[in-house]
Amino acid sequence: MSILSQRNLILSTILILTFFLILNARADNPDELFRNAKKNLEQLNSSPKLKKNRSNWLAVIQQFEKIAQAYPGSPEAPKSLYHAGNLYTRISEHSHSKKDLKSALSAFENLGENYSQDPLADDALFHAAEIHRTRLKNPEQAYVLYNKILTQYTEGDMALKARYWATRLGIKLASKPENKPPAKNPAPAQSPPELDIKNPVTVQAIRHWSGPEYTRVVIDLSDRANYRRHLLRSDPENNKPPRLFLDVYPARISPELKDPIIISDGLLNRARASQYRKDVVRIVLDINSFEKDTVFQMENPFRLVMDIEGKAETAPQAVTTAAQPEGQAIENIIAGSTTKPVEPEPKIKPEPAAPVAPITPVAPSAPTLAKQLGLKIRKIVLDPGHGGKDPGAIGPSGLQEKNINLKVARYLRDLLEAQQYKVKMTRDSDVFVDLAGRNVVANIAKADLFISIHTNASPKRETAGIETYYLGTTRNPETMRLAAQENSTSPRGLSDIEGILQDLLLSSKIEESNIFAGSVVRKMIPGVKELNPGVESHGSKPAPFYVLVHARMPAILVEVSYISNPKEENLLRQEDYLKTLAQSIADGINEYEKGYLSAANWKE
Ligand SMILES: [Zn+2]
Repeated sequence: MSILSQRNLILSTILILTFFLILNARADNPDELFRNAKKNLEQLNSSPKLKKNRSNWLAVIQQFEKIAQAYPGSPEAPKSLYHAGNLYTRISEHSHSKKDLKSALSAFENLGENYSQDPLADDALFHAAEIHRTRLKNPEQAYVLYNKILTQYTEGDMALKARYWATRLGIKLASKPENKPPAKNPAPAQSPPELDIKNPVTVQAIRHWSGPEYTRVVIDLSDRANYRRHLLRSDPENNKPPRLFLDVYPARISPELKDPIIISDGLLNRARASQYRKDVVRIVLDINSFEKDTVFQMENPFRLVMDIEGKAETAPQAVTTAAQPEGQAIENIIAGSTTKPVEPEPKIKPEPAAPVAPITPVAPSAPTLAKQLGLKIRKIVLDPGHGGKDPGAIGPSGLQEKNINLKVARYLRDLLEAQQYKVKMTRDSDVFVDLAGRNVVANIAKADLFISIHTNASPKRETAGIETYYLGTTRNPETMRLAAQENSTSPRGLSDIEGILQDLLLSSKIEESNIFAGSVVRKMIPGVKELNPGVESHGSKPAPFYVLVHARMPAILVEVSYISNPKEENLLRQEDYLKTLAQSIADGINEYEKGYLSAANWKE
């Protein structure tokens, strides 16, 4: 070794030693810790020797991460997360490790989701989107994030770039052949090929909701997964009931999910999950009685939803227990939990079974099934969209969709109750309610109508107006974008739901929902004209909204105005306008009921 290189070695040893001395310096306030971390980062950046060693990078990253963990409420927390995200991205360029990229994503997503008011939030979301698009080759997830920036940070410095990529990806993804709905079986035959075998998802929890003739089972996952559905017919010789099972792969089971979950609602006896093979988790549903089932995947968070329909052979045990006040019970049902199974506890007393409608398509010209049966509208479930940690769309001056939806729903409830309707709300405060549980409330309550209330948002500021939706498929890119936004899903998620729609569209409820959606939008436009002159009607349209899937009554989603349009955002701030919106929806309900009852009378 030459004298020169020996000197170099000594020098660099001293350098590394001092580096770690500073790293270990103690401080107990976030400001000082942050300054230390920044100083170390500068030192690292300026030393080619220190730079070469991965552990030095990790040490600095950890300093930033610790600040965010220990002082989440401090102004240094979002800044630290931003540094951590950037540094993980940097080291991943050398390591080519997916783990580093995932760590970067988790720092950026933590910042984007938990510090949404921070000026760095949209930058973090943009970096996360770029990682999905350029590094992980996951354009669907990138699209969701670009869209989120567009609707939530319209004024931010990332909006322009986000719009560019959202448009490009939107066109690319909509033209993908895999978006065609599969022919019959709801479970996708071919699974997304690029899922990483080395990174199995975790099957975290199983939840369920039981109602008469209907059970929804939700399987919580840590990430998107492949799944395959199988049905085993009953085996009377061996005394085995029919079993429905779902294989999720590549997947590992959470240790908390070892015990079977007792359902006993007449349709299903129990659900259990096991590590069937090294990389396959099998969820088995022991069936008592069922007619059909559908499976689809939801995102944000990732979960698989299995809907089992049929007639319970025995009175559902859970449905007959009436211990708590009804409203409270509904809150329990919909609040759900991602960590432990929810007890089957609908507290609504079973009612005599309604006449069962044969599942056949109804010709549009014939009187619809509801009309033929002369059913009366008594119970209405109102669903104020979003809530809690999910603000929905945000207007240019900061108005949050979740609050507007709730106000309109409350006004509408008051109006309907004054007309002697029984009204239930999926939420009556600023709480997060799982999308998967929302229309289940209406099914369990055997409601006659379901109305989900939202405000619209478009990247185009000038777009304004009112529109209503019923469940169906669409090829309209603007409607697809809205459905992805309201479902918090990617285009891939949308294609997943479209796969099961074929089946659902045979139900007569779709035809009724179509008529209902038309009645409401026709009454809303003249109803709000005085306060919103020149209001534009976008009519009633089909769209694949999760919240409408498997509603067993006419179900619609109303976009009451565009919160992204400055003029309509301003109107939405005014209580008078919200009351008028509620009144016009109530008029639409009356209009629908009139047509529905007169047709029933006509039949007699
Ligand atoms: Zn919404």
